[in-house]
Amino acid sequence: MSQGKPQNITLLGGTGSIGGSTLDIVARHPDLYRLYAVSGYRRIHELAAICRQFKPAFAVVPDQVAADQLETEIAGLNTAVLVGKDALDRVAAAESVDIVVAAIVGAAGLLPALAAVKAGKRILLANKEALVMSGQLFMDEVRRSGAELLPIDSEHNAIFQCLPAQGTCFDDNSLPVSGVRQILLTASGGPFRGYNSDQLAGVTPEQAVAHPNWSMGQKISVDSASLMNKGLELIEACWLFSVKPEAIQVVVHPQSIIHSMVAYNDGSVIAQMGNPDMRTPIAYGLAWPNRIDAGVKPLDLFQVAQLDFEPADEVAFPCLALARQAFSLGGTAPAILNAANEVAVQAFLDERIGFEQIPELCRYALDCLPVEPAVSLDIILASDCKAREICQPYLEHLSMHRIKAQ
Ligand code: NAD
Ligand code: MG
Repeated sequence: MSQGKPQNITLLGGTGSIGGSTLDIVARHPDLYRLYAVSGYRRIHELAAICRQFKPAFAVVPDQVAADQLETEIAGLNTAVLVGKDALDRVAAAESVDIVVAAIVGAAGLLPALAAVKAGKRILLANKEALVMSGQLFMDEVRRSGAELLPIDSEHNAIFQCLPAQGTCFDDNSLPVSGVRQILLTASGGPFRGYNSDQLAGVTPEQAVAHPNWSMGQKISVDSASLMNKGLELIEACWLFSVKPEAIQVVVHPQSIIHSMVAYNDGSVIAQMGNPDMRTPIAYGLAWPNRIDAGVKPLDLFQVAQLDFEPADEVAFPCLALARQAFSLGGTAPAILNAANEVAVQAFLDERIGFEQIPELCRYALDCLPVEPAVSLDIILASDCKAREICQPYLEHLSMHRIKAQ
């Protein structure tokens, strides 16, 4: 199914989990897609292997040390090595680029994703933190530039597939369109589904990153375990589909076969199903409105046999309610929550704080910092910075307390 010249892809976060799934699809369709630029942050040796296999025009690394290593490893290759954050923005907005896959984790992904939006590209958005931080600004920019924003977070991709063609639930006057009644946002429940608060207090980083259904990066794995991921996804869905949080129900579905659903006024509920494999939403985003082979194992319903559903336990997992609270506070509150969560997750992975202290640190940041209208990127980024700063002394306090208790 060749449509002439292959489309040029910039892959932000090529060395990560989403990056790997994207490259797998690109490798399957050399007639359709070409890797134009790729970025990596730490695993430079892996980035070199990607460059050797896909021969991109550009590879972006964070600093000169990484650049020296990469240049040595790919000597003789026709790939130019670029350094720093500005280079990420440049390869995201470059004239020759057709598609940008935004797969950097955390707040670090915001600026290059926004650069792609401003340049009017097709953006496959995995980096939900970008929307959580700057939803209004981001979506305003999408509308202004005419960029094609295709969600590849599996739930949002599912919702996108289940919605009517407009891809939105409410019009500009908050009136429902096309009879959409509710969005049912599914959650696997993570590795600690069914745990109570006492049991959660003793869990380790190894247990938290061992997700039952999905193989993902460390940060999103911890977020899935704490249900912060579902909270961030709730905010992401509100912005993507112009929907109010009240119209979104979180449904725990441990098998992760249904990736989300849309309920309509006539009683219809449309679900998108498939094996839990990120190559499905990525392939959908790349080929939309067409469909291409993604190498995903076909769904065998007899093998699945059973689909279960239950409500989320918001008492044992307070992160979901915190995200709802941050969204209803509005302005910079979601950016504050996101920054505090990034700090808390890293501290948990470093074994400085316990799992149950992740929501504690997030709540602390939300309580301490004033919420401002999120009218500019500078204000949003300043809030992100302030939240990281004020978390530090509290983190020290929590980790000292933990050492004493041990
Ligand atoms: P990952 O940790 O596996 O990969 C992250 C990528 O970002 C790597 O390439 C890394 O080099 C790069 N990176 C990290 N810090 C950086 C920084 N400061 N500056 C520039 N680059 C940096 O993460 P992942 O699981 O692939 O997730 C990526 C994004 O996609 C996250 O926002 C996550 O929430 C979202 N997402 C992931 C999945 C999944 O299945 N993995 C599903 C849905 C959404
Ligand atoms: Mg998801």
